[in-house]
Amino acid sequence: MTELTSAPTAPVGNAGPALDPGLDVWRTLPIQQQPSWHGTPAHDAAIKELSKLPPLVFAGEVDILRERLAAAAQGKAFLLQGGDCAETFADATADKISARVKTILQMAVVLTYGASMPVIKMGRMAGQFAKPRSSDTETRDGVTLPAFRGDIVNGYEFTEESRRHDPARLVKAYNTAASTLNLIRAFTQGGFADLRSVHNWNKGFTENPAHAAYESLAAEIDRAIRFMSACGADFDELKRTEFFSAHEALLLDYERALTRTDSRTGLPYDTSAHFLWIGERTRQLDGAHVDFLSRVRNPIGVKLGPNSTPEDALALIDKLDPNREPGRLTFISRMGAKNIREKLPNLVEKVTASGAQVLWVTDPMHGNTVTSHNGYKTRNFEDVMDEVRGFFEVHDALGTYPGGLHVEMTGDDVAECLGGADPIREEQFDDLYESVCDPRLNHRQSLEMGFLVSGALAK
Ligand code: PEP
Ligand code: MN
Repeated sequence: MTELTSAPTAPVGNAGPALDPGLDVWRTLPIQQQPSWHGTPAHDAAIKELSKLPPLVFAGEVDILRERLAAAAQGKAFLLQGGDCAETFADATADKISARVKTILQMAVVLTYGASMPVIKMGRMAGQFAKPRSSDTETRDGVTLPAFRGDIVNGYEFTEESRRHDPARLVKAYNTAASTLNLIRAFTQGGFADLRSVHNWNKGFTENPAHAAYESLAAEIDRAIRFMSACGADFDELKRTEFFSAHEALLLDYERALTRTDSRTGLPYDTSAHFLWIGERTRQLDGAHVDFLSRVRNPIGVKLGPNSTPEDALALIDKLDPNREPGRLTFISRMGAKNIREKLPNLVEKVTASGAQVLWVTDPMHGNTVTSHNGYKTRNFEDVMDEVRGFFEVHDALGTYPGGLHVEMTGDDVAECLGGADPIREEQFDDLYESVCDPRLNHRQSLEMGFLVSGALAK
């Protein structure tokens, strides 16, 4: 397996005259969900600074990811994407980052072992700072202020000063992404992700049913590794793991400033992350987001909600994957448990009939958001699990491949989603609800999810 810490196969230059002028066409197109800071001196300065900073990821790594995703699109691997709805600057700490990475590694090991399938590990991490909102403003106790749009735009605290759109946050987001990615690279390449440590990844988490199931699986893996070791097998492959970064490409000025020409190929790569996705609110065919992302080489995801039509999906394929390159395009459906069995089949059927080979991933979170009796944004774990089951059923019935899972999760002991084998109740929200945006699966709910998907994949 290729290591992500290896030097790029060729240096990636700064944005300059070699860049395709098409990369700026988005500026002439309708654009949704942008902050109100364009044209200010502070914004110009921040963009200028970003354009000179080094890339966060390398073009060679992005190409490796495209190959891995191509395998998943062909039914030979499974994509696991997980992380916060909105990362915050304050929570970019070693403890929180390591708990999240460990949880993703644990889910991945459950999936790999249960399904005997390579798992592509990817964090909604190291750059997931910008949030689309349904309203520009938020009103509390008769006071109306700009809505929180993620730490890259403004602060969560409900004061006029904090909610002001501040372009200096663009540079802080870059720096926070860089330090997060640095730690992820250290964890996944420096021995922490060694498969011989599967037991250790469980340490420090509260005992619960999913925890116990994981322990017994870890014991089986240990035995298998000792057996193969005794047979003289070489274990270098087990010491490190690939781990890719991903976020919603929402702020196009930030994404554009980090887009660089790869000197090997002369092609533009958005070096802010390995994988970028277009959200449900910004996937307009003639809009700025689809245009910009159609012009970079990174693998691209598009969220598809319950109102997506097959025509939308086919037009997105034409625009984002005109060469029908496996690994280039991932559709992340987020239908809601009530809709998935009815709405997904038509999309999958028509896309498959068109000959395109996209990767299908389920996001069982965003179609299942409800408000709790005590006023918190939450999701019922049962609905989340049901959407995942529906996703597998639909693909089973059509003979297509359910290639991945996209979840909002954390390694921390939070109470944000209701239910689970060790059930979270609404009364716990006041003390243990930490998300500044959507509710996440906590550590044990994430493991439970890993076991469910592993069972479905193994069938
Ligand atoms: C998200 O992934 O946090 C998000 C906003 O998703 P969607 O675009 O599917 O609503
Ligand atoms: Mn979200």
